[in-house]
Amino acid sequence: MTDTEQHSTATDPALLDALREQVQGALPATIADLSALVRLPSVSWSAFDPANVRASAEAVADLARSTGVFGADDVRIIRSAFDGSTAAVAEADAATGLGQPAVLAVRPARNGKPTVMLYAHHDVQPQGDDALWETPPFEPTLRGDRLYGRGASDDKAGVMTHIASLRAIHAQFGDDLDLGVVLFVEGEEEFGSRSFRTFLREQKEHLAADVIVVADSDNWSVDVPSITVSLRGNVTFKLTLTTLEHASHSGMFGGAAPDAMIPMVKLLSSLHDDAGSVAVEGLTSYDADVPDRTDDELAADAALLPGVRPIGTGAVLSRMWFQPSITVTGMDVPSVANASNTLLPTVSARVSVRIAPGQDGPAAYAAVERHLREHVPFGAKLEITEADSGDGFLVDTAGWAVQEARTAMREGWGAEAVEQGIGGSIPFVSDLAAEFPEAQILVTGVEDPDTRAHSPNESQHLGVLHRAIASETILLARLATRS
Ligand SMILES: [Zn+2]
Repeated sequence: MTDTEQHSTATDPALLDALREQVQGALPATIADLSALVRLPSVSWSAFDPANVRASAEAVADLARSTGVFGADDVRIIRSAFDGSTAAVAEADAATGLGQPAVLAVRPARNGKPTVMLYAHHDVQPQGDDALWETPPFEPTLRGDRLYGRGASDDKAGVMTHIASLRAIHAQFGDDLDLGVVLFVEGEEEFGSRSFRTFLREQKEHLAADVIVVADSDNWSVDVPSITVSLRGNVTFKLTLTTLEHASHSGMFGGAAPDAMIPMVKLLSSLHDDAGSVAVEGLTSYDADVPDRTDDELAADAALLPGVRPIGTGAVLSRMWFQPSITVTGMDVPSVANASNTLLPTVSARVSVRIAPGQDGPAAYAAVERHLREHVPFGAKLEITEADSGDGFLVDTAGWAVQEARTAMREGWGAEAVEQGIGGSIPFVSDLAAEFPEAQILVTGVEDPDTRAHSPNESQHLGVLHRAIASETILLARLATRS
């Protein structure tokens, strides 16, 4: 991406010094507020007490008011109805029909300045087995450079990045701030964002923004920031092949009558070529430079056994970020213990396809379906059910917001940002992009490779938190003074 890279001008040195001082001076208070949030066990899953999520929504609303950026009536706690599309809504929730509380605070833009939406989430994953934690999950504990606790990073540090940046901006600009600000802190990201799309639709007039900052991703290292510029999409379905009206003895008909497993194995193997690259015509790849990662590093990170070779071709990170991949994640077949000498009449497989950023879900699904129908051997009857797809996400890295973010990160971290892709999907980012196609979305974050989000002993590196707040503050100041 270096060939499209442009540099926006540096921030005024006096302003930069003032902002850095604000952020640094407020850091102890920021860490204290983060610790108070971690003490609230705001697990959003339906089996956990929703009172804790309500308490954390109240705490976030208080923090939003404390920034000085919003009027008293402009900070609201909102619960929205579940999206119609949500498959698994627990019975207890279905009774109310409402998702977990989100916090929304709005300051309208003035004098032609842009509006920025700041997104994070205040709910957390369950803590899992308490015995695996070195210190209690909801007792924030400082060890070395890191603050330990469930949600200390994902994503309460994201919440505090927004709050601390808004405080610093308010200290700098006071009531002269013309930048429009929408603070949106969701309450059920870790439980599938089940009311997210309803919320976006119902609050659309308050949410419109030129730039959206999603503080819920990670960084290259504790010293080098990342800006996430692509996410893969996905296609999933159940594939069933049937060849016989009923099972029969393999010793009688085997060799002439095809069981369903033979065409299934041959059909699934047609999805990859001999190098292990996806061999489905019509599935696209995205083309961009990636940082170096060697096969040996991949083998260590993904725990390949000795002698097992990586699959695919091209740069390692391009295979994981920009090329499609296909995984068979389950099959309905008799277990080994129950295997008898019969020809199986029918076999099903769950197929999960990661699609390259830039290709839309329905087009990718159509390509995979066409491949399967064209390659099914022996006239086996093919059925596809439970199909679902989600679009990938691609940032226009030449957009002005990315240029501004790059400069702000350079000044806030003292290091160039790595533009990274993510091999998985963040469905709510695609939802945001679909609802606000004009907005430029910046996916940033406070995590680093040792954060262990969702796992025991999750922690936030406080140097990263400091640098993330500094860059977001600089970004907001640049947007506020942008002509
Ligand atoms: Zn998160």
